[in-house]
Amino acid sequence: MKPYAYDPDDRGLKRERQKARELRQSQWWKRRCAKGRCHYCGRRTPAAELTMDHVVPVARGGKSTKGNVVPACKSCNTRKKQLLPMEWDDYLRSLQSSP
Ligand SMILES: [Zn+2]
Repeated sequence: MKPYAYDPDDRGLKRERQKARELRQSQWWKRRCAKGRCHYCGRRTPAAELTMDHVVPVARGGKSTKGNVVPACKSCNTRKKQLLPMEWDDYLRSLQSSP
């Protein structure tokens, strides 16, 4: 946190986060969650437990578009927050190689 630093991207980030909130209310998103499956690990997950995840995080320039948001289960979402981008990539690869 740098409360006094001026961040030229800050307004953009706020806009993308606002757009994500709107997308979360949309029928499109509700239909995606109704499928009840995590985009990353493919586990069956109740719609109520799916969270919206940005494939490319907003903080790294990702947009709140239909092509960049996916439903993720809590465990994937938590992992993604805790892991470094490289470690996250390794995790995704490990999911693909396991049956
Ligand atoms: Zn998952």
